[in-house]
Amino acid sequence: MNHISYINIVYIVSCVLFATGLKFLGSPETARRGNQLSALGMLLAVLATLSAHEIISFQWILIGGIIGSGLGAFVATRAAMTQMPEMVALLHGFGGLASVFVDWSAYYNEFVHFDIMRIPAGNHAVMIPAIYLSILIGGITFTGSLVAWGKLSERLPGKPMLFTGQREINMAAMAAVLLLAIPFFMHPANNLVFLAILALSLILGVLVVIPIGGADMPVVISVLNSYSGLVACTTGFVINNVLLIVVGALVGANGIILSYIMCKAMNRSLNNVLFGAFAPAKKKSTATAKGEVKPITPQDAFLILEAARSVVITPGYGLAVAQAQHAVRELGELLEKNGADVKYAIHPVAGRMPGHMNVLLAEANVPYDQLVEMEHVNPLMDTVDVAIVIGANDTVNPAAIHDKSSPVYGMPIVETFKAKTVFVIKRSMASGFAGIENELFYYDNTRMIFGDAKDVVQKLVAEFKSK
Ligand code: NDP
Repeated sequence: MNHISYINIVYIVSCVLFATGLKFLGSPETARRGNQLSALGMLLAVLATLSAHEIISFQWILIGGIIGSGLGAFVATRAAMTQMPEMVALLHGFGGLASVFVDWSAYYNEFVHFDIMRIPAGNHAVMIPAIYLSILIGGITFTGSLVAWGKLSERLPGKPMLFTGQREINMAAMAAVLLLAIPFFMHPANNLVFLAILALSLILGVLVVIPIGGADMPVVISVLNSYSGLVACTTGFVINNVLLIVVGALVGANGIILSYIMCKAMNRSLNNVLFGAFAPAKKKSTATAKGEVKPITPQDAFLILEAARSVVITPGYGLAVAQAQHAVRELGELLEKNGADVKYAIHPVAGRMPGHMNVLLAEANVPYDQLVEMEHVNPLMDTVDVAIVIGANDTVNPAAIHDKSSPVYGMPIVETFKAKTVFVIKRSMASGFAGIENELFYYDNTRMIFGDAKDVVQKLVAEFKSK
């Protein structure tokens, strides 16, 4: 067996570790192990790659590795939990850029300066379309992710950026880059055509993302995640690397499934998210919530909680903003000690990224078996004594069930309104992500506890401790 075959065997072992790791990520109990397995797979893959005879400079690899790891560690340790989506956007963007560089150098080695040491290439019938697709998808992923990062971090305006003739310009740019495939396939050595494809792809990345509102960016990031997988996959075909093909396909499929799940949980189609800004604006809900807002102090809320036998805590984006997860875990423990059955109702798009609430609550060591998916907790909701909504808004808005004119109509919600008493902890009557009023706040069984989530929960904890 030659050296390449050994490397490929290690790659296959890595692929199995990645696939198993992904499977384990499906549940909070096994997620840590999943991450470790995938990291081991990555370590093996890197070591196997470093043993390849084609490597011409370990020195440059080391320099790149040190700079990249240093920057990565610096950014990751500084990013707050609420900044994760924008950080993920940057990572995907640089993944796309890295693939573009690999494809670019493979292109030059194979078609422009064939006398330089070559990256081992496949046959041209596979390589030429693979280079074209890699440059196209990689370019879009890079600049698209940068715009998404800019919007999420508020360095760019979050509103859709629209201008006259935008749709036509986008379509012309797309048509041009598709048509350039013909001269590229016929004369791949034509450097100018290659550069034109690269330039247009970079421009397209900006054009397709600027018309999308900042609020839809998490879905866009998930789609770009999928693109970064696809570009790794096509790059695998360019440089004849089995591992990249398999892992790229895994990431590509994952990203698309995740985008679909997110759209479903928001009751939107992917089309609507990606091209919604071009469509005529949807009629805003004309319904105004009726009833009276009934505020309650944490001290009075405690008296009701003390008597409760079953409590469902429903977290949302405000919990992440307030970093109230540790205080919430403490409250949950005190309620349990007091004899209540405590569950945490998890809405799939509560927060600003998929799994946001699971990650926050896991960080605070909330037992996994207390986290219940929305569809499992809803049937129990009318038997619940108290539902505590903490910094959640759209994901508990009953208009989603019955108000056809509401922008959230059709979105599945945690049906907290069915509980005997609902406490809503938030700072004001301000709307959430969808920018609409929430009729739950006016329901007869709802009491508003105004204040920062962490402050309020700490006050409730203090009441329990002092009783
Ligand atoms: P929302 O964005 O609907 O509401 C969050 C609420 O938290 C606000 O009304 C705000 O009210 C309150 N809040 C903010 N800061 C604090 C604080 N420090 N203390 C207490 N309350 C606070 O959140 P949800 O989680 O219910 O819904 C998520 C929304 O995001 C959905 O519409 C979903 O579609 C969307 N989305 C989610 C994605 C995901 O992947 N998870 C992706 C894309 C979109 P106030 O200012 O009065 O305090």
